Amino acid sequence: MQVFVAAKPKKRMKSLGLSMDTVKAIFVSHEHSDHINGISVLARKYRLPVYITSKTLTHSKLNYRKLQLLPLEAYTPVAIGGLIITAFPKLHDAVDPHSFIVAYGDVKVGVFTDIGAPCEHVIEHMGQCDAAFLEANYDETMLEQGRYPYHLKKRIKGGKGHLSNLQALALFTSCKPAFMSHLVLSHLSQENNCPQLVKDLFMRHADGTDIIVASRFKETPVFTIVHQPVNAHRPRVSEAASTGRQLSLYETPTEHVS
Ligand SMILES: [Zn+2]
Ligand SMILES: [Zn+2]
Repeated sequence: MQVFVAAKPKKRMKSLGLSMDTVKAIFVSHEHSDHINGISVLARKYRLPVYITSKTLTHSKLNYRKLQLLPLEAYTPVAIGGLIITAFPKLHDAVDPHSFIVAYGDVKVGVFTDIGAPCEHVIEHMGQCDAAFLEANYDETMLEQGRYPYHLKKRIKGGKGHLSNLQALALFTSCKPAFMSHLVLSHLSQENNCPQLVKDLFMRHADGTDIIVASRFKETPVFTIVHQPVNAHRPRVSEAASTGRQLSLYETPTEHVS
């Protein structure tokens, strides 16, 4: 499963020893430029289908000439190889924004970014994830004292903008299942956050989950996710790699899942 919300996917995958040929589809979460710029070129170049809701398509600036567009609807699962991708609604100031659950067998990975506040959908899904890619966008003090104009500060923390570090932490500590092995913190504001601050904050509450902070500037390593029943011993990554059903955050269903 390739999860890229950042620029330069080809270069970053290559650094990890992965090929773009292993990417099978693109799912569009919403129409904001940081999530849609570059999709047209990438999809055309690698002949990738683009799953997008009709409202998002209508309100986006996506150049869909020669693209294979496929419908995306909340709670209508889409199968890509052995993966099942299910979109669900979220609170964000876009026309029809969605988060995703990606499942392979009994392994579930959540992709939860651009969330103004935790809604019932994300709370429910967070509780089912073996791993989550969760937004921790801003430190409240840094945003408050920073140089962003008032209207932008208001938009970010207004309930349909982004999750603060403390909101993300509350979601994690109150909803995470005992079997969650990895939490990848993502979509950190360059202006209003600090990766080390996020790491230190979440490490204090990790409770057995591996905490990773995704960089804006370089690729995140590949992790192997294995579903563990509640109360079972949770193997470390190296141990997990040799046992059981596996799902990597950066792998595709056809070539890497065994
Ligand atoms: Zn957005
Ligand atoms: Zn965004």
